[in-house]
Amino acid sequence: MTALLELDRVSRVFHAGEQTVTALDAIDLVIESGEFVAIVGASGSGKSTLMNILGCLDQPSSGDYRVDGRSIAGLTADELAALRREHFGFIFQRYHLLATMSAADNVAMPAVYAGLDPVLRRKRSIALLQRLGLGDRLDHRPNQLSGGQQQRVSIARALMNGGRIILADEPTGALDSKSGETVLEILKELHRDGHTVILVTHDMEVAGHADRIIEIRDGLVVSDRRSEATAASAGAALVAQGQPVTALAGFQRRLREAFPMALRSMAAHQVRTFLTMLGIIIGIAAVVAVVGLGEGTRQKVLAQISELGASTLAIYPGRDWGDERADSITTLVVADAKALAAQTYVDSVTPELSTSSKIRAGRLSLTANVNGVGKDYFRVNGLTLVRGAAFSEQSISERRQEAVIDDRTAATLFPNGRSPLGQVVMIGRVPVVVIGVVARRSSAGGDRNLQIYLPYTGVGGRLLGAATSLAGLTVRIADNVDTALAERAVTGLMTRRHGTKDFFVFNSDQLRRTIESTARTMTLLISSVAVISLIVGGIGVMNIMLVSVTERTREIGLRMAVGARRLDIMLQFLIEAVTICIAGSMLGVGLALGIATAFGGRTSDFPMIISLDAILAACTVALLIGVVFGFLPARNASRLDPVDALSRE
Ligand code: ADP
Ligand code: MG
Repeated sequence: MTALLELDRVSRVFHAGEQTVTALDAIDLVIESGEFVAIVGASGSGKSTLMNILGCLDQPSSGDYRVDGRSIAGLTADELAALRREHFGFIFQRYHLLATMSAADNVAMPAVYAGLDPVLRRKRSIALLQRLGLGDRLDHRPNQLSGGQQQRVSIARALMNGGRIILADEPTGALDSKSGETVLEILKELHRDGHTVILVTHDMEVAGHADRIIEIRDGLVVSDRRSEATAASAGAALVAQGQPVTALAGFQRRLREAFPMALRSMAAHQVRTFLTMLGIIIGIAAVVAVVGLGEGTRQKVLAQISELGASTLAIYPGRDWGDERADSITTLVVADAKALAAQTYVDSVTPELSTSSKIRAGRLSLTANVNGVGKDYFRVNGLTLVRGAAFSEQSISERRQEAVIDDRTAATLFPNGRSPLGQVVMIGRVPVVVIGVVARRSSAGGDRNLQIYLPYTGVGGRLLGAATSLAGLTVRIADNVDTALAERAVTGLMTRRHGTKDFFVFNSDQLRRTIESTARTMTLLISSVAVISLIVGGIGVMNIMLVSVTERTREIGLRMAVGARRLDIMLQFLIEAVTICIAGSMLGVGLALGIATAFGGRTSDFPMIISLDAILAACTVALLIGVVFGFLPARNASRLDPVDALSRE
């Protein structure tokens, strides 16, 4: 029959700087199932080292250690964790209870890693605490319990996953003698129930409770005595194992439980958590607000462009803007406008003449732009009639002395709501009658000059020097016609008519594209600054997580001792980082929405349009930041050595 635990020439050597310390020196030892063994020795004799090796928390430097006949040499960290989960229950001198959890949760913790259902877990943890006389202390925190009570909680925890082998390192060391007696009684009872109990102590009297006393000195076994053996009911331990679950289901369950765990630890450090989150909140709010502002500005500019008149081509004499010869070029004529208007891809054409002149109505006089226009001018340029009528075909052909004024001129010349319709306005010495008032669709943008419009044939023509040539032509492209194609056709037609290309075409669509791409560039630029702030926030999260791992090293050690896998530890910290980032991003989005509502209405100077896409993108980015910046601390945590971690102050 194979022995339960078997040490075969096991040594453990520590290297501390230059020196090497041989804590265990080629020890042979066999412990059978159901034994109650005490390991005694002076301080520094190697008891804890031996105990850590027996409990698979530490591994021999040389020699072989077998559990149930299976050598642990070459097992991975997770396989060792599984061994600890399934076979061992640890009781420590300083209890190692987690301060933020209730007694019942502390007891239940090992079963989390065994994948036991939460309801069964709670039931079993309560039953164990009741059995140890703590039925009325279930929801107390460790600091609300006496030392003896805390040690009993830790015994219950050792039994949670079955605790076939109980390893107790100086369990009475921190207790008064009465509590110590109680603990020893419990250990004896567990032994009677079939548990294998290994008790480590420096106190011979305490060791006397065991059936077998192994004395070690300087890493060597110096004696191994058995009292008249109370035949142990070998292996018949009252082991209530959790039902096995599939690996995947177990993993999912542990993943689900990592969230409340993360929330609990965030709640334990509220101020710190909030400050960490602040970086993410500001970063996300900045990104979302800036993208919203970019989108809002873009749409506002586009709206203004479309007010200028959708899809128009403006034709001017000369090679380009500011061509000095333009004034002397007289080939752009009314006949060109007529020819263009006959094309199928043209909706309408309006010729343009313009000058600035003094105008007068009654006693009021002012300077305005006088425009000679065709009948479609208003339609082409996106001006809407607010009162009266626009020019008719006859107005143009009969050279009527009529005028249309814009709403600002109307308000200036005819204050107090007097109707301008039918009134006479003097342009220099020429009288015209106002027949209509037009307005831009919104008051935003556009030039601030006062405008008066006359038929280009009549007074306009005379005023503007009996112009036979035009200052420009505006062509409105028919709907559904590509403006680039139309531009090419117009250029071709005009070049043929003039015999040379003595004009240039300005495409409003091109302006739209230029503005759009400028807006995109600006958004990109400001966004990248905001993204940098987000990255700084992420680094803040990483920083705090690293601190948190350092602070909670003992907790990590304990979790590993009770059987947490590396992945479990990793997930715990990763999920904490991700939770902080996601919560931060939600608050950040909230902040951005708040800013948008407060300052960023559509009519404001800073219009903001925050789309659902932007919000989802922000949350995704936050998730990624959590994963990326949480990874390093989480990995550090998962790679800790359990013995090291447990002994850390
Ligand atoms: P005990 O539990 O019997 O008091 P330990 O097993 O803790 O003794 O230690 C045995 C010896 O090993 C001591 O001399 C101690 O200094 C040394 N030792 C234990 N752990 C380490 C370590 N991590 N690094 C270096 N030396 C160690
Ligand atoms: Mg010790």
